Amino acid sequence: MSTKKTQGTRSSHSRSSSPSRTGPGKRITARDLKSFRRRLEEELTVLTGRHAGLEAANASGSEAIGAGDLGEEGGDAGLFAAERERDLSLVGNLADLITKIQGALARIDEGSYGRCEVCGEPIETERLDALPYTTLCLADARRRARAR
Ligand SMILES: [Zn+2]
Repeated sequence: MSTKKTQGTRSSHSRSSSPSRTGPGKRITARDLKSFRRRLEEELTVLTGRHAGLEAANASGSEAIGAGDLGEEGGDAGLFAAERERDLSLVGNLADLITKIQGALARIDEGSYGRCEVCGEPIETERLDALPYTTLCLADARRRARAR
């Protein structure tokens, strides 16, 4: 998937950026980080609420809290949700996902966010976009999935 860029506008002030923007190991920008952080924090809020709701439901036998927290977002969110659901069924534990998201937020603070914990290479931005809390690049995630 390539993001379409409007190329009509020519910027008069040229910064020290090189004309070739593509290439392996594209770094995530500070602006990306900010939006990832926001999304992670939103997810954390939703999941924490759900977790609390589940625990309450377990305790009281009443229904878990309903949907409505999620929603409005389309596109990426769908993809994100799909893999998240898979994570949930895999781990069967909401708390684990909450931990992952907290870890991702901590890595943003540390400045190590977006790097694969196995090979140390930058994680594909498309992957991070779909799964902001991931700690593995696509290749290592596949390798790990196969190893299971
Ligand atoms: Zn890797």
